[in-house]
Amino acid sequence: MRVLSVTSECAPLVKTGGLADVAGALPAALAREGVEMRTILPGYPAIMARLGETKVVLEDAGLFGGPVRALSTQLAGLDLYVVDAPHLYDRPGGIYLRPEGGDWWDNPERFAALSWVAARMAAEGADGWRPHVLHCHDWQGGFAPLYARAMGAGAGSVMTIHNMAFHGPAPADRRGTLRLPGWSWHPDGVEFYGHISALKAGLMYADRITTVSPSYARELMTRDFGMGLDGVMRARRDAVSGILNGIDTDVWNPATDPAIETFEAPTGKAAARAALVEEFGLPQGDGPIAVVISRLTAQKGLDLLLQALPRFAGQGGRVVLLGSGDRGLEDGWRAAAHHLPGVAAHIGYDEAMSHRLIAGGDAVLVPSRFEPCGLTQLYGLRYGAVPVVARTGGLADTVIDANDAALKAGVATGLQFAPVTAEALSAALDRLLELHRDSEIWAQICRNAMAHPVDWGTSAAAYAALYKGIASDT
Ligand code: ADP
Repeated sequence: MRVLSVTSECAPLVKTGGLADVAGALPAALAREGVEMRTILPGYPAIMARLGETKVVLEDAGLFGGPVRALSTQLAGLDLYVVDAPHLYDRPGGIYLRPEGGDWWDNPERFAALSWVAARMAAEGADGWRPHVLHCHDWQGGFAPLYARAMGAGAGSVMTIHNMAFHGPAPADRRGTLRLPGWSWHPDGVEFYGHISALKAGLMYADRITTVSPSYARELMTRDFGMGLDGVMRARRDAVSGILNGIDTDVWNPATDPAIETFEAPTGKAAARAALVEEFGLPQGDGPIAVVISRLTAQKGLDLLLQALPRFAGQGGRVVLLGSGDRGLEDGWRAAAHHLPGVAAHIGYDEAMSHRLIAGGDAVLVPSRFEPCGLTQLYGLRYGAVPVVARTGGLADTVIDANDAALKAGVATGLQFAPVTAEALSAALDRLLELHRDSEIWAQICRNAMAHPVDWGTSAAAYAALYKGIASDT
């Protein structure tokens, strides 16, 4: 079974969020299921600079304003195809944003090129390799199932939604430029209220739709969570499934993590916790240290946590946040760290620091308003940093709340709260303080958390089964 993963991010090469982790982990996880997955990525400068030996496997003399080549190579343990298109990718700044902020005006074309080359590989093969299935991630891969269909490629296609909030919109008058077939321009095609939507293209034309947790799959069919595409999700209900993300248990392994010295939770957490107290100048004390590692956007609910901080810190709780994003939230967290003893914030992006936080933290907080899957609660489970999460999406599916029944049955792994308000979060933090004071119960929750499977095993098997159901007999 040959699968081409169509993605704009892939760890460890290029990452802005969880999509990269998933795209980076899937090939190895699926190899264990007998699936040969290769990955196609845009040739951003950082990737082009790292390329060693490459082979040109496909060429297009003029695609969206310039020549394009697909290069095959191996990098960071991945079998890669890199779309070499300097007119689209050779730019400063982030992968989606201009250096001065804001999307590149031609983002639709930049990622349509990725999808176009992937579709051509499915239609014609490249250097003798032709995928049975295109696995497309988020709006950046959204046009690939449509292009593949227009080319008569015959390959099966899967569209995975990592976050429904991003649609990849383009003005209607770009449909010629984007090479969208005329038959796709209607409300049951790529049109979304008079605009083109790359995500909707994927949802309409892929054989199967997945999202990264069963709860988010259900939520996406509702008006509250569907971001305007809930009707599409309901119409395609039979093609939709939720498959939970796993994490890379080699990268996130408390026994071998180079970011920490020794670790054996719950008792062995002491060294990592002490290191955290020192690194962030936290007050000494018996109260729990709760950590946050997150993009700072409205989705993540960290404004609610700001409101709950004074009460939590006033009762001996300590909080360390690592994150970056919205200016207002960054300023809010800087101010809280300045004014409240027991609260520290590092505004920035730092992988090694994220490991130190998870290792030293007693709890990890994820108060998201919506969360397709979420990864940091999975890291927390593995390292005995008890997750305190909003009851939504993948957070609801991965954490067992320490209610009376779960405590009696000895199965609790964390805390959930609902609705997603500052009051409910505050109440959950009160519960956290109380549970943490009872060392026996706390140790049991930590043990349960660490025993909870967070690897890719089950989910890789679920993807493999899905591919099997739709694979072309190419
Ligand atoms: P999302 O994809 O919505 O950002 P996820 O929880 O699925 O949320 O994935 C976020 C990923 O990015 C995790 O691996 C998390 O550890 C990482 N991350 C987010 N912010 C930072 C940061 N400031 N420093 C280091 N890692 C971060």
